[in-house]
Amino acid sequence: MSLTTLTEISRYYGANPDYILAGGGNTSFKDGETLYIKGSGMSLAGAVPEGFVKMDRKALAAIWDKTYPKASAERESAVLADMMAARKPGEEQKRPSVETLLHDMLPFAYVVHTHPALVNGLTCSRRGEEEAAAIFGDDVLWIPSTNPGYVLSKVVKTAMDAYSAKRGKPAEIIFLQNHGVFAGADSAEGIKAIYGKIMEKIGGRIKRRPEFSNETGEKGSSAAIGKTLSTLAGGKAAFLCNNEIAALVKNSASFAPVSSAFNPDQIVYAGSDPLFTGADTETTLGETALQEAWKKHAEKTGRAPKIVAVQGLGVFGAGPSEKAAALALELFRDAVKIAVYAESFGGPLFMTKDQIDFINNWEVEHFRSSVSSK
Ligand SMILES: [Zn+2]
Repeated sequence: MSLTTLTEISRYYGANPDYILAGGGNTSFKDGETLYIKGSGMSLAGAVPEGFVKMDRKALAAIWDKTYPKASAERESAVLADMMAARKPGEEQKRPSVETLLHDMLPFAYVVHTHPALVNGLTCSRRGEEEAAAIFGDDVLWIPSTNPGYVLSKVVKTAMDAYSAKRGKPAEIIFLQNHGVFAGADSAEGIKAIYGKIMEKIGGRIKRRPEFSNETGEKGSSAAIGKTLSTLAGGKAAFLCNNEIAALVKNSASFAPVSSAFNPDQIVYAGSDPLFTGADTETTLGETALQEAWKKHAEKTGRAPKIVAVQGLGVFGAGPSEKAAALALELFRDAVKIAVYAESFGGPLFMTKDQIDFINNWEVEHFRSSVSSK
């Protein structure tokens, strides 16, 4: 039974942090009539057959023939309403993934979308597109950085239609710049073969790997600073350092490779603007200086920082709960990996300011409930 296979393959990738972090990614299976897509709120690692939403593919296909408002908020909510209406009877309590249209459009029985740090080293790099072409030739479709939701689905559909018309078959691999990868196949074995090829080929081009030895959750004055940050965040702070992070927090120039956002998930969990703070005396960062830096940052960005890097010490994740602080660190750690892998492809490339703003505003509407405070 294919829903069983879909559940198995979802758990397989969901449980592997090289592919999926923090409930990210999504998977689907389709036959002629029905798309089974991951529902929001179910993690891939904890996938169960009833956590997938059954969607009417005829109703989904009809969405392409409709005209939607130009303004992004109105457009996304109109598309969302049509997507909700495409749920099969009995599925009303579930909410399909925001990437449902993209999954439905790909002509493969199984589609697995993930955000591996290794792949994002390529998709979040300056020479990503040329390097992808050099590594994979015509086997892949490269999609330039695009806002998620309807617009992304439409951009991929147009690119895939052109690809299929030219080559007589669809692309099994789609790289989304500053986001991740979609792989499609008609069997679970096919998906595993594709991902094996992706990881092996990109891995073979990596000149330097992240140096995460000496990883610690405590160091020097981290406990005292963590306490101040917990109060400022109105919740909790957690500390992280390792050899790679130690090199990044030497000064603000060395922090540059991780000073902004690579992808949407990082923005949702770790924020788009990490705060970098210098020591205000020779060796320590005092409470007042930290409060001042926090306040300035919040005024400048309109948001409380989720990541606070302290010169010479390491980084803190901060948020309303222990889980939020840990997730911020987990996604920052992923950003560090991406920055290191990107060195092999011309250096790291952040999202543009417009794209970052879109996610920050989108987050309020679509993700807030599911994000930090759980
Ligand atoms: Zn994604």
